[in-house]
Formats: sequence, C-alpha cells, structure tokens
Amino acid sequence: MSKAKLTTTAGNPVSDNQNSKTAGARGPVLMEDYQLIEKLAHQNRERIPERVVHAKGWGAFGTFTVTNDITKYTRASIFSEIGKKTELVARFSTVAGELGAADAERDVRGFALKFYTDEGNWDMVGNNTPVFFVRDPYKFPDFIHTQKRHPKTNLRSKTAMWDFWSLSPESLHQITILMSDRGIPTDPMHMNGYGSHTYSFWNDKGERFWVKFHFKTQQGHKHLTDQESEKVIGESRESYQEALFGAIEKGDFPKWDVKVQIMPEKDAEKTSYNPFDLTKVWPHGEYPLIDVGVMELNRNAENYFTDIEMAAYSPSNVVPGIGFSPDKMLQARVFSYADAHRYRLGTHYEALPVNRPKSPANHYHKDGSMRFFDNFTSNPDAYYEPNSFNGPAEDPSVKEPPLRISGDADRYNHRDGNDDYTQAGNLFRLFDSKQKERLFNNIAGAMDGVPEEIIQRQLIHFHKADPEYAQGVADAVGVKNKAASK
Ligand code: NDP
Repeated sequence: MSKAKLTTTAGNPVSDNQNSKTAGARGPVLMEDYQLIEKLAHQNRERIPERVVHAKGWGAFGTFTVTNDITKYTRASIFSEIGKKTELVARFSTVAGELGAADAERDVRGFALKFYTDEGNWDMVGNNTPVFFVRDPYKFPDFIHTQKRHPKTNLRSKTAMWDFWSLSPESLHQITILMSDRGIPTDPMHMNGYGSHTYSFWNDKGERFWVKFHFKTQQGHKHLTDQESEKVIGESRESYQEALFGAIEKGDFPKWDVKVQIMPEKDAEKTSYNPFDLTKVWPHGEYPLIDVGVMELNRNAENYFTDIEMAAYSPSNVVPGIGFSPDKMLQARVFSYADAHRYRLGTHYEALPVNRPKSPANHYHKDGSMRFFDNFTSNPDAYYEPNSFNGPAEDPSVKEPPLRISGDADRYNHRDGNDDYTQAGNLFRLFDSKQKERLFNNIAGAMDGVPEEIIQRQLIHFHKADPEYAQGVADAVGVKNKAASK
C-alpha cells in the first residue's frame, strides 16, 4: 500500500515536515511557514475543559440483550422482545479526581451508559452505589467543593469533607458505603452499577410505575484495602484503564445482569421513606429485583478522546416508556448534565459520532458554531414548524401519561421528618466483624487531622445509626465517644 501524502487541514500537500522555513540556516523563522503555525496552533487547542466531576474515566462499547419480558411495565422499544440486542457505550469514572488522578482511589465510581435504541438514545447516568450524599440539588455544588481543592492550599481537605458531612446527616448512608470495602473496587468489571435515582416506566396502556435500575456484576465484587490501593497506585496510576482495556482486548468480556425494582405508582404515598429520596434504597424484601437482561462490554474504543472523553451522558435522554420522577436531584441533573456538555463540547455535542443516535434525529435547531451536519438536505423549505412542506412533526402516540403528584409550591425543609439513620444502620449490620473493623479503620484514616469538634459531631450520626458504629470509629480514631453519653 502506498503511503498517504501528508497535507494541511485544507488538503494542500506538505513538502517538508522536518525543517522550519527560515531566512538562512541560522534562522529566524518566516511567518509564511503556515504549516508550522498550524501545527503549533492545533497543539494549543488539544485540550478541552475536563469534567468538573467524573473527570477521570474508562469506557468501552458493548451490547444489552433482553432476557425477560417486562413489557407490562414499559413500552420502551429496547425491552420490546426477549433476545433483542441494543448497542451501548459505557463510561466509568471516579467523582473527585481530576483527569490525571490515579484510578484506584477511594471514591464513588460513575457508571454511565448510553443505549443506542431504535427510538433514540437512552442514557442511564448512575454510580456504583445505590444512593448519594445529598438529596437536594442546592447542596450539590457545596458538596463537590468539599471534594475538590481548598482555594488557598490547593490541597484536598479532610476537614472540609467531614465538616460538610457532619452538618449533612443525609450523607451518612453514602459515607458508610464509601468507607466500606466497596469504596475501592479493583477495577470497573468487579463492581455493581445502579441508576440510583427513581425513574418511571410507562406502558402502552398509559400506566406508570416507579423504577430503580440495578446492574449486578457477573465477575463478582473485588475490592482493594487502603494499603493495597497505595501499592497499586505506587505501581500504576492507570490500573482501571489497563484492566478494562486489557480484558476486552483478550476477549474476556465483562457482563452485568440488568435488573429493576418496580413500585406501583400509588405505593409512593405510603412507603415509610420517601421513594424519591436519593439517599434511600428500596429494600429488596419489599420490592424484589426483577430480571431484565444482560449487558456485555465487548469492544474497545478506537480513539479514546472521540469515543470516551467526548461521550456525553445526560439523564435528560429518555425514550418513550421511560420517564423521570419527582426526585429533586434527578430533575436538577436533567438540566445540568446537558448544560455541562454544551459548555465542554459545544452546542452540537449530540451530533458527534459517539453521541449521535443510530435512529434518525430530526429537529429544527439551526446553525451555531461547528454545525457540521444537515438534517433536511432533501427538504430545504421545512426549516421551521409547523410547515406545509412535509417537515418532521410531533408524534402524539408517544405522549407520556400525566405525573399524578401535586402539592403547594414552597421550599420544604428536606431534612424535616427524614430518617437518615435506619438504612445506614441496616447496611452496617450486614457487615461481619472483619468488614466492620476495616470500615472503622478506613474512616479513622480519612479523619486524620480533622478537628475533634467535627469528629464528635459525626460520631453522633454514627451512634444514631448504630451505637457499635460510633464506638468502633471512636476507638479507631483514638477519641472519647461522647455520642454514647448524650
Ligand atoms: P438485602 O440484604 O436484600 O441486600 C443487601 C444489599 O447490600 C445487596 O444488594 C448487596 O449487594 C449490598 N451490599 C453488600 N455490601 C455492600 C457494601 N459494602 N456497600 C454497598 N452495598 C453493599 O437488604 P436490603 O434491600 O433490605 O437493604 C439493606 C441495606 O443494603 C440498605 O440499607 C442499603 O444500605 C444496602 N443496599 C441495598 C440495596 C437495595 O437496592 N435494596 C442496594 C445496595 C445496597 P450485592 O447483592 O451485589 O452483594
């Protein structure tokens, strides 16, 4: 095969890619050396803003296959028949670490999936935990500030983290997961994923059900202790990328069982906990897991930047048969994720190859920078709506049933009457004595150097979840457990 000719971006052949054009062998460089200027200018523009959260990630392409019929709950075409396969792109991430952060750090992991369904893209932008630190979106930017760098020291601050957490009791459930064994999975294959939020399903009869999504690893859970992770990071900062990329290259394709919990619409009025509260799970005993299918990752990206870094996930991407819920955090994310991509990638980020739906996208958005696609080439008169030129029109058959939730508009105190302790305590009581011991030590390590006043405030929360929890942490930290005498 003959070698392709090097050209400028305008396709002009380049005669010399080694030597700049200078006035005499000793320089200086002539301004007309356009190829040199273009090369330097492109290098200056190689980086785009990293994500504010979930900057460090690893991903791959794969397939979702339906194994069980759930059409009585949802009309979503992705679930329409057993055996149906849908392509997807997955991206896993840490939350707090920047783009160059080490992979094997203690943190929640993002678990984001984009399913290229035949009714457009469905994005399931979850985590490897079923709950989150906050339940009201007002608290999200503050929470993330505590996970990032202190404005003066430019260091991460354990004091800020525990100060915020101890003043936000709703974080206790997620803290317990984060500080447990599952806080450092060995790699993306050995962890579960969760939609975390409550979403809704609606069927072809117009009935709505509340739903939670679960992705259970078929590889089993594998974790690192704090000491093991230090060793891994000492040897490689890219251990997740190596593991995921390597497994798929070898043909060792990771799989997850996809399951849902279904809650009849009316039950939401009677559960003791708010089923739309992101700090709560629905106990399996009350809402058992129902099989849906299997997700497999089986193809590595050809180009990490265009396939994974530019993969733009947003909970706003739902398909007919899947809807939102009153979860306040979900509703804020419906805005903020798409907005983050407009900022990071540009207005037309959904038209980039990795984000482009595999079904037709017909809309009337116009122009703007980097508008490189054209939806109506065969129909140039249909550039507004309604029109008489046979342009794309709405489809009332995919109308979602009404959301039967109402109340007086107000700023309700999200901490009033909320039990932040029972579910965190239930998780703690699931752990055996060795797991509890590691939990206490992980928390003690994470509290190193934090003022005692803050530690004592946090011990009260541990005590309310389970007195043994507070005592164990106090002993590991080496402070008096004042919570026990309150
Ligand atoms: P179950 O005994 O039916 O389920 C316990 C769940 O805990 C399983 O899903 C298990 O996941 C998961 N689990 C085990 N160890 C950890 C850990 N270190 N971090 C996070 N999850 C873990 O109990 P319930 O449904 O009644 O829930 C009891 C508690 O379990 C909850 O308060 C919650 O903290 C936790 N949990 C519940 C989930 C739910 O959706 N109901 C989901 C995840 C956690 P696996 O099966 O993969 O081992």
